[in-house]
Amino acid sequence: MEDMRKEILYSREQIDRRVTELAAEISRDYAGRELVVIGVLKGAFVFMADLIRRLGIPCIIDFARLASYGAGAVSSGRIAITKDIEMEIRDRDVLIVEDIVDTGLTLSYLVRTFQERGPRSLKVCAFLDKRMRRQVSFEADYVGFTLDDGFVIGYGLDFNEKARFFPDVYIVTNL
Ligand code: 5GP
Repeated sequence: MEDMRKEILYSREQIDRRVTELAAEISRDYAGRELVVIGVLKGAFVFMADLIRRLGIPCIIDFARLASYGAGAVSSGRIAITKDIEMEIRDRDVLIVEDIVDTGLTLSYLVRTFQERGPRSLKVCAFLDKRMRRQVSFEADYVGFTLDDGFVIGYGLDFNEKARFFPDVYIVTNL
């Protein structure tokens, strides 16, 4: 961590503007409805906190946590829910909020799992979309920022549990 080199990728001002735009788009799309917003722990919690406070529609929230089994940064593709949501989503409008779509494995698993529970609608909002490392085809419905590749930290995103509290998003340049 101490000898990590990093550069700002998205400043807090850029993030603020983009989150406001996303919230406006989501509010328009769900006008007159109540949204169930499900955050994926831990990475999405900062983004989700900012997003829901800018929504112009009522929402209720819940959280899920997933584990992906595999060595280090390489995911094996085996995903499991380690903390499930606590509410019933049948016939509800559900929006999953995630930090990053990378290989796409986590979100495609989660969408498949929640779809089986019979929501009225199910969409995904991802803060970042990393396009280069997809292993399964997956497109989020709402995306904050798109980048090709690289390891990013801050604004909820960690590096071995550190750096989540940084208000800006950085790209690590010496990994
Ligand atoms: P995937 O799409 O590969 O199944 O999983 C995405 C998850 O991997 C994200 O939710 C996030 O926790 C983690 N991840 C992927 N890329 C990065 C990154 O650049 N930085 C951080 N901190 N986490 C990442």
